[in-house]
Amino acid sequence: MGTRKKVHAFVRVKPTDDFAHEMIRYGDDKRSIDIHLKKDIRRGVVNNQQTDWSFKLDGVLHDASQDLVYETVAKDVVSQALDGYNGTIMCYGQTGAGKTYTMMGATENYKHRGILPRALQQVFRMIEERPTHAITVRVSYLEIYNESLFDLLSTLPYVGPSVTPMTIVENPQGVFIKGLSVHLTSQEEDAFSLLFEGETNRIIASHTMNKNSSRSHCIFTIYLEAHSRTLSEEKYITSKINLVDLAGSERLGKSGSEGQVLKEATYINKSLSFLEQAIIALGDQKRDHIPFRQCKLTHALKDSLGGNCNMVLVTNIYGEAAQLEETGSRLWL
Ligand code: ADP
Ligand code: MG
Repeated sequence: MGTRKKVHAFVRVKPTDDFAHEMIRYGDDKRSIDIHLKKDIRRGVVNNQQTDWSFKLDGVLHDASQDLVYETVAKDVVSQALDGYNGTIMCYGQTGAGKTYTMMGATENYKHRGILPRALQQVFRMIEERPTHAITVRVSYLEIYNESLFDLLSTLPYVGPSVTPMTIVENPQGVFIKGLSVHLTSQEEDAFSLLFEGETNRIIASHTMNKNSSRSHCIFTIYLEAHSRTLSEEKYITSKINLVDLAGSERLGKSGSEGQVLKEATYINKSLSFLEQAIIALGDQKRDHIPFRQCKLTHALKDSLGGNCNMVLVTNIYGEAAQLEETGSRLWL
């Protein structure tokens, strides 16, 4: 991973039979991507609108298997967490571009599992390989929708919005969310069943509360605590890994958005732009104040974004011409 200061950025292109070769170009070393829009791609694109973007990256994932994606973006973050480094892996992009596929994957097929189940597997493998350490694993699953916090692993039945709201609290150890349930998992199977329970709750809540699940941010967190068992070595390490499936980055339609859709889009635009500002500020050595507390998303991730943390941003994009107008202007690398 080299230096830990900057954000490691990758683009994953959703596989398609109709790849827009004339619009998407990768650098020879796959460390840059150029996007070129034809002006006439959609009626209404005015002539002075920007049509070319060029981004520098750590890698392009084109027709990449879930296994390769994990090896490239997540493996080091997870292994360094056991050395005490907090890590954050985020998927960003338009709805349908593959964020949830990248994070969660298609769970019915082992090969198609995403970063989340693979990270849990790696954590428990590493624990087996370190019998000299007593390591505990806890997990939580937080959903942020319209700036409200929801516990996807709440042990209480859902009783409506009157329950005490969760709050984000900071102390010298870091940031934690008061009211969010954190579950001890002593083996891989426990962690998996919590993960699936969270996914199910996400779907149920989207029906009962009429919220569109692609309009929320979800943060699955793995908390690690390691004590050395040998007396010669007094070592105590804590860290966390945040695996984040961000809300869809698409803009509001030019017309017709109102009510709930407008409200959701407004919250998403705000939180994504605060996240973007935080990421840009982190890459700028001269900045000392980073505006983390402006929204729930950046506040909740505050101690896992900057400083001594490993941070990876995967931008999921479509490979087809029709969706690229949206992508070009919303990539932030
Ligand atoms: P998002 O979470 O960004 O809205 P999804 O991850 O739900 O998008 O992807 C939309 C659909 O495309 C899903 O059916 C998903 O299985 C499929 N999909 C996305 N990326 C890939 C990929 N790399 N390979 C195969 N199928 C994919
Ligand atoms: Mg999704």
